[in-house]
Amino acid sequence: MKVKISQRAASLAPSLTLAISAKAKQLRAAGQDVIGFGAGEPDFDTPQPIKDAAIAALQDGFTKYTPASGIPELKEAIVEKFQRDNGLNYSSSQIIVSCGGKHACYNIMMALCDAGDEVIIPAPYWLSYPEMVKLAGGNPVILETTDATQFKVTPDQLEAAITDKTRLFILNSPSNPTGTVYSPEEIKALGDVCVSRGILILSDEIYEHLVYGDAVHRSVASFSPEHQDHTILTHGLAKAWSMTGWRLGFMAAPEPIAKAINAIQSHSTSNPTSFAQKGGVEALRGSQDHLKSWLPEFDRRRRFAHEQLASMPGVSCVNAQGAFYLFPNISATGLSSSVFCERLLEEAQVAAVPGIAFGSDAYLRISYATSMENLEKGMERMARFVSSLQG
Ligand SMILES: *Cc1c(COP(=O)(O)O)cnc(C)c1O
Repeated sequence: MKVKISQRAASLAPSLTLAISAKAKQLRAAGQDVIGFGAGEPDFDTPQPIKDAAIAALQDGFTKYTPASGIPELKEAIVEKFQRDNGLNYSSSQIIVSCGGKHACYNIMMALCDAGDEVIIPAPYWLSYPEMVKLAGGNPVILETTDATQFKVTPDQLEAAITDKTRLFILNSPSNPTGTVYSPEEIKALGDVCVSRGILILSDEIYEHLVYGDAVHRSVASFSPEHQDHTILTHGLAKAWSMTGWRLGFMAAPEPIAKAINAIQSHSTSNPTSFAQKGGVEALRGSQDHLKSWLPEFDRRRRFAHEQLASMPGVSCVNAQGAFYLFPNISATGLSSSVFCERLLEEAQVAAVPGIAFGSDAYLRISYATSMENLEKGMERMARFVSSLQG
């Protein structure tokens, strides 16, 4: 039978990340010792008190539908989080709990985009943003950035990209894939453009707590009530609480947008898993002490990996200050990012994600969410591989 796939689905880019990890798996199954730098999740376990809260919820029979947009207790904990960490006041009716930060972003596109509407996305971007915009019928408008500006878009660049079709500007700081953290002044300047031009900002702050050195995270919503009014803030528990598999994300938005998203979610996924939400309450209200050991460990690996990458012939690397990624420039090797990654995997048994997956072919993404031992081994192999290219 000949199956007709919707244009919506057919227009999606296949995931290069998945292709590389499938290949890495295949090599591992064949007995090769592959070092993985592809991880998009922390290598730490979810803190025990969070697990205990979910287990207790299961034991108590908290296993039924909840309100589609999340349980009131978790929404309250999210309201408290925004007050505590960001000085932002939201009411619970502005909060939606979703099945991951990714789901929160997807709902936003569905709520805001009509056919032909434009969403401005700086590249390198998290690979799901443009695909989500396309799924919603909108047009992604990509703003190129390079390592020369630490992958930051300027207010002028943003201003020039705005048309009468622009609905949304996506800001992701700290960034996946580059690890870039915008300064508060830079964030404010971008926010000012959106406020003055009357466009909304989707601020994806999922890496808020993973910043190193003298970098500070400041939410674009926090500069003035107007900034808050123009911001849809997305967040989630995946990264800083190592809960990727729990599927819990959340967003805070102006009331009419939250209402629209509540309706969308009520007809699509319904509520995020009931007992996972109880774990979410513990994650936000309980001790944050796990970060006291995770952050120095991430930072140590970041500094090590950066030093190694920067010293490899044909590789240059800006030192990122957030998330758990570095985004080295490999263009001087003369290889495209996919050929580089394919050969790196085949010839040196190191898996990394080609920059082309994130819209920037001159780079690759190295995740340091792996042990120091793996980093040492993998960096040594990669150094040998790039030296062999110099030949
Ligand atoms: C990991 C990630 C998310 C959300 O992931 P979920 O697992 O869906 O919570 C959102 N944005 C970026 C940039 C991410 O890297």
